[in-house]
Amino acid sequence: MCGIVGYVGNKKCLPILLNGLKNLEYRGYDSSGVAIMEKNCIEIRKESGRVAALESLIDTSSFLGNVGIAHTRWATHGTPCKENAHPHIDNSSTFAVVHNGIIENYKELRQFLERAGYSFYSQTDTEVIPNLIHYYYSKNEKTKENFLNAIYKACKDFKGSYAILVLCKDFPNMQIVVRNNSPIIIGVR
Ligand code: GLU
Repeated sequence: MCGIVGYVGNKKCLPILLNGLKNLEYRGYDSSGVAIMEKNCIEIRKESGRVAALESLIDTSSFLGNVGIAHTRWATHGTPCKENAHPHIDNSSTFAVVHNGIIENYKELRQFLERAGYSFYSQTDTEVIPNLIHYYYSKNEKTKENFLNAIYKACKDFKGSYAILVLCKDFPNMQIVVRNNSPIIIGVR
């Protein structure tokens, strides 16, 4: 179990994300992290321990982006530590993902991706998600349609229950939300 929160809008997202993490902290508190779109780059900060530890690490004035995702973790795969904290990125740093749930077939997907040349830097099931999206995305042009199709194809390969938020540096004004047998709430105002 863990908590995920995302924001897309006109406001600076970092305070909104940190506030969301504090509200979700009862769902997991072994590590936490944020990914924020800053001028077409995905900036990631993560830390082991509680959300307060993450907050004390971040210079809030240097984050101006208004699209971001965040995670507070209760580990299911891999020890509680900074390397296993979310968000996780693919090898090309194009995609960042936060994930609630379990990818049951992550071992076989990881082996498949390793054979295709991908490297892994955590013990989590989650790290296959951004890399498998990249695997499909890299086969075609950098279009929004291809981005959506890559997520669609990757999700068809995942077994298990999950809710995920995905950032792509090629499409900095949006994020994609997918859920399968895990809860997620989208608010619009
Ligand atoms: N399975 C993921 C991990 O271990 C997400 C954690 C969770 O949802 O409990 O990092």
